[in-house]
Amino acid sequence: MLPYMAQGHMIPFTSLAKRITQSNPKFKITIVNTPLNIQSLQPTISSFPNIALSTLPFDPALHGLPPNSENTDSLSPHHTVRLFHASQSLQPHFHSFIAEIIATEQNPPLCIISDVFFGWAVEIAESFGISHVGFSTGGAYGTALYFSIWMNLPHRSTDAEEFEIVGFSKPIKICRSCLHPNLLAADGSDDWSLFFQKQISLTLRSDGLICNSIEEVEPLGLQLLREYTGVPVWPVGPLFLPHQQKQKQLRICMEWLDSKAEDSVLYISFGSQNTISEAQMMELAKGVEASETPFVWVIRPPMGFDLREKFRAEWVPEGFGEKNKNGLLIHGWGPQLEILKHRSVGGFLSHCGWNSVMESLSQGVPIIGWPLRAEQSYNAKMLVEEMGVCVEMARGVESRVDAGEVERVIKVVMGREGKGEEMRRRAGEIGEEIGRSVRDDGVDDGQRGSSLVALEDFLAFLMSKRKGNY
Ligand code: UDP
Repeated sequence: MLPYMAQGHMIPFTSLAKRITQSNPKFKITIVNTPLNIQSLQPTISSFPNIALSTLPFDPALHGLPPNSENTDSLSPHHTVRLFHASQSLQPHFHSFIAEIIATEQNPPLCIISDVFFGWAVEIAESFGISHVGFSTGGAYGTALYFSIWMNLPHRSTDAEEFEIVGFSKPIKICRSCLHPNLLAADGSDDWSLFFQKQISLTLRSDGLICNSIEEVEPLGLQLLREYTGVPVWPVGPLFLPHQQKQKQLRICMEWLDSKAEDSVLYISFGSQNTISEAQMMELAKGVEASETPFVWVIRPPMGFDLREKFRAEWVPEGFGEKNKNGLLIHGWGPQLEILKHRSVGGFLSHCGWNSVMESLSQGVPIIGWPLRAEQSYNAKMLVEEMGVCVEMARGVESRVDAGEVERVIKVVMGREGKGEEMRRRAGEIGEEIGRSVRDDGVDDGQRGSSLVALEDFLAFLMSKRKGNY
């Protein structure tokens, strides 16, 4: 398994490795990555004897990246595209790694499961005659749109604000404002297009795709993804990992949440690698305060500051942090899944990264969306239009945020009547569907959750490909 170097990718890959080895102990998985990423995985997989870890050499300095930059969580946004290009330097090392296994072990690898950002792994699989499956850690709908938009750059052939996306039998329209500035400016010859068009087109040569979704939860998304790729797609979600570190922080957070009423707390986080601007942070904080809603906010220094810098009180309204008994600020990194599982949490102000979406919906928590980059605005569109579990409060990294609008949206979503109540009901239903997808109530397929069946189908597909001494 070869995940991309970002927490939002390492987490579902590790969860998938656990799921596969637990479902069938005959399978052995090696997760391969750069030294620091592998080091951070060690405590998580130490109790799983069928999962091994292996490192590939990687030198950030050779690619103009700061020291120890092996994961997006330590990088500022303008370095992101450098990390994408730098990640391609892993290709020859991964080739040697597979060649070495083939030369020294009785059984060659059965399959390479690589991140859809590592399409180059398809060429390696093909050169050794090994199966290759792409793993999209995004949702099916977001991945389908992301693939099509990067491959076709549809906004370049129209001036319209809203336009249709290429490659689907059902018309899917998107607004210009859903596209990140890097994508809006892309013309096929820029650094972003060069990376994505190459990696996506290689990934489209895979034998199939796995995604962190569920058949019943994303029927349209899965239809679109199957249509666009033309290969089998196995939705084996939800792929979660419990929080590993900082037990003291977890305890403080849980005790604070215990003191709040059911569904009363708003959780705020923008994922593993984002922060917002100073002006946006101030407006957001003012709006949260005005709504008088209790909140837990995983907060980082604003854009333009070093993310490891100590948080300054001047970035939020006076008294907003320590003195504010109505809110808990967690600096840097919080136990997100555990927070969302707590009965007091009734809403999630999120950047709509797919892991966050799945974690929220699995707990029946409706979403206030502020998509920032990547496929997040496509996720938000689907959450609003298809699922009815989200209100989009702002859109994009450059979005103007207004305290009054923040207050209004929070009151709607956290409200116990009207739209807020309806969103909570829908989120609850989807949460139940997610729970059912991994339930195993019997031996018949009819009684087994759809994700378990999809995983079995995937493993059966792999076994049908095996050759030689297995
Ligand atoms: N996460 C976390 N604590 C944090 C921030 C993020 O545990 O303070 C986890 C979160 O639970 C999710 C992942 O990091 O599993 C973030 O993935 P997502 O797809 O939501 O967003 P990304 O970081 O990839 O933009």
